[in-house]
Amino acid sequence: MRRKVIVGNWKMNMNLHQSQKLVSEILNGLGKESKVELILCPPFTSLFEVNSLIKNTNVKLGAQNMYFEESGAFTGEVSAEMLKSVGCEYVIIGHSERRVIFNEPDELINKKLKAALSNDLKPIFCIGELLENRENGQTIQVISNQLNKGLDGITSEEIKRITIAYEPVWAIGTGKTATPLQAQEVHLFIRESVAKKYSSSVGENLVIQYGGSVKPENSGELLSQKDIDGALVGGACLKADSFLSIIASA
Ligand code: PEP
Repeated sequence: MRRKVIVGNWKMNMNLHQSQKLVSEILNGLGKESKVELILCPPFTSLFEVNSLIKNTNVKLGAQNMYFEESGAFTGEVSAEMLKSVGCEYVIIGHSERRVIFNEPDELINKKLKAALSNDLKPIFCIGELLENRENGQTIQVISNQLNKGLDGITSEEIKRITIAYEPVWAIGTGKTATPLQAQEVHLFIRESVAKKYSSSVGENLVIQYGGSVKPENSGELLSQKDIDGALVGGACLKADSFLSIIASA
């Protein structure tokens, strides 16, 4: 059976002090027997500290982005190896805010995925359609294109270390959520596409999270869909009580 994975994407929120407070509130509220895999993705400036706070717990650390080169004259960028050195196990790649605000194309995202994998990081690979895509009936075409380009050249061993996050762009930070049925339909398509490209067992074991205005009021129903294996949570992960309720619903 696939595990449930809940990711908290703090985005550009939480200074060092706020990060310490949020992590201790989350840790205090977590059930000891929780079967959910929990990954926290604070901003770069809090990674080292959050890593030391979650030591000796089952909580994992992830970064929100990285660059594909190993080192050199890339002002403002951070490499996979640097992320590993502060305790990251995961890295979000291709978040829609990177794609839309920072113009990251599929080809760059593919390079980042490969660099993360070759440095032993586990990528959380984000894909999702814009509102106009959905309104024009192009959702499946867009998802298929992002999958094909993003996973180009990635082997059947490597795909096992990737988690996919389906995040309809129109639902991120907008308060609008895809209905459980809309999300399930795309998740199933993603699973079937990955199964076709690699193998049915790779498809069956692939963890696919949903992201887009997930909150305590809608998480239970979304997470009960057959092909929804977790959630990538933005806004609602910044308050311990709402994040803990989402975790409990998983
Ligand atoms: C996200 O950051 O990936 C996200 C889905 O944000 P929100 O939950 O705020 O929509």
